[in-house]
This record gives sequence, C-alpha cells and structure tokens, in this order.
Amino acid sequence: MATVKCCGGTSAGRADERSRRGRRRPVGDTAARQTLVIYTHPACLAHDPGPGHPECPARLAAVLEALAAPEFAAVPRVEAPAVTRAQVARVHDPRLYDALERSSPTSGRVRLDADTVMSAGSWEAALHGAGAVCAAVDAVMAGPARRAFCAVRPPGHHATPQHPMGFCLLNNVAIGARHALVQHAIARVAIVDFDAHHGNGTQDAFIDEPRVLYASTHQWPLYPGTGAPDEHGAGNILNVPLAPGTRSAGFRRACEGSLLPAIDAFAPQLLLVSAGFDAHRLDPLANLDLDDEDFGWISSALVALAERHANGRLVSTLEGGYSLTALRHATTAHCRVLFGTACA
Ligand SMILES: [Zn+2]
Repeated sequence: MATVKCCGGTSAGRADERSRRGRRRPVGDTAARQTLVIYTHPACLAHDPGPGHPECPARLAAVLEALAAPEFAAVPRVEAPAVTRAQVARVHDPRLYDALERSSPTSGRVRLDADTVMSAGSWEAALHGAGAVCAAVDAVMAGPARRAFCAVRPPGHHATPQHPMGFCLLNNVAIGARHALVQHAIARVAIVDFDAHHGNGTQDAFIDEPRVLYASTHQWPLYPGTGAPDEHGAGNILNVPLAPGTRSAGFRRACEGSLLPAIDAFAPQLLLVSAGFDAHRLDPLANLDLDDEDFGWISSALVALAERHANGRLVSTLEGGYSLTALRHATTAHCRVLFGTACA
C-alpha cells in the first residue's frame, strides 16, 4: 500500500497532531503571506434560499469568522471576479446559464427543484463562486501564490452539465478544472472531494475526460445516490464510499488504502479540492463521524501530494457543511494546513 507523508507522517496520531500544531508558524510569516490567498465575495452572502434552508448565508459567515482569526491575518483576501459565460460553457450547457440568468428573481424566490432555490442575490453569488475558483487557478499558476481557499457559496459539486441540483447552481470546481485545462494547458488535474455527499455533477462533467481524476470519499448510501465503487468513468473516477457512522480511523484507512495512492499515481499538475465539511460528526445532514482533526489530516496529505507533483499548487473551494460550529472548526483545521500555520 502506498503511503503519503504529510507533515511528518501518514496515520499521525493525536500526539503528532498536537506536536504539529505546536510548530505553527508565527502570524505574519513572510512565506505564508506570499504563498496563500483567500478568495471570497460579499455577493456570496446574499444568496438566500429562505428560512430554515440548511444552505444559509450564516454558513459563509461562520467560515469567514473562522478566517478572521489572528492566525490568518497575514493571508491576503481577494474579491472574486464573476465567471464569464464562456468559462461556464466549458462545463455547462449554455442553455443552463441562460435559464439561470432568466430565472433569477428581482424579489422573492424561485424554486428550481425540491432543494435548490434562487433568491434575488443568487445569480451574482453563483457567478462569483465559480469566478473565485477560476481566479484562484490563475493565481496559483502564475505564482507566487501556491495555495488558495475559496470561501464562497452556493456550493457546486451537485450541479451537472445540464441541471442545477442539490443546493448547487454552477459547478464551481468543475469550471475551475476546465479553466486550468484550457487556459493553462495543464495536462492532469486531480479533483479531491471529501464532502459527505457524492459530487455527481463533477463526476458527470469529467466522466470521459482522462486528463481529470475525480476522487471522492462520501457517505453511501446518501443523496444523490451516485458514487458506487464500480463507477469508473474512463478509468479516471475513483469513488470511495463510507458506511454511515464511519469515524476517524475508517476514514483515514479508506484514504490511505485507495484515495491518496490513486492521486499519487496520477501525479496531478494541479490539485483542486471540493472541501465540504458535512462529514463532521456534528453535521445534521449526514451520518459520518469525523472530527476537526480529520480535516486537518486529509488537508496535510493533499498539500503533501501537491508539493510532490504540482509544485505545491492547490485550490480548495467550500462545498457543504451545515453545522455552523463544525464549519468554523473544520475550516480552521483545513486552512491552518493550507496556510502553513499547522506544519512548519
Ligand atoms: Zn454535502
């Protein structure tokens, strides 16, 4: 079994975790400032699916609150641009773009399916969410930025080339991956998705695209019902289903057994991450039992792979996560690693 070393080990125990945290870089570290970027946009707070909807503006507020901590003060924030119609058309049917633009209400809400709702601010939010990933790809390709986190919503990984679904309007990470292939002539992009739900839209977008590896851990069975281990695409799809109740040890075993070796073997020139935090034990929409430290652990492994194969280039974007407490804590664990404050 191949192993991936990350900040001093693969199946690092809690003692190693504490040890790593003890070696946090000081705030204001020059390398961290030059290496890392956060992309976000105020429009992403204005998408409002309505009272009681789990994909609420407070989610992004919780993420931004976590990123406002002193340990991230040195990391530059960049206002995400809007994606262009041409960028979207590399993944989605142009009729979807036009239909969403037309559907965007000036007041009130429009329901696209049982879960997916547009308010007056939703279209702008979607445009800047996808634009963030494209801009972050540009930044890590140009340097000196090497890692970026896109604090955006709505999430994207359920949106298929033809349809919005599952709280998602545009598939942010898929649009970013196509942007890398087309604009930067990247030959191999890996998309790693550790959201509790399978990213059916991302899988659909790259089902016959060998230049993109889509590797996902997700609870199974669970919405949207895809993500079985025998869904291989053109040999570029790796689904690692996790049984309900899977805890830290099972998650790490699954990652070390197949997900991380597959990425290592693929040798991506760019790593994209669909960072959903709903596999956290506090999440109300899924039944996985991960802890804050597990998100730091997988992030360390992915950073190590990006360092090994992709000159460090890694772009992460927010997907799901519906416990505000878990979102704050897991975002902190994830971004500590991305921003180099967790491992020297
Ligand atoms: Zn999810």
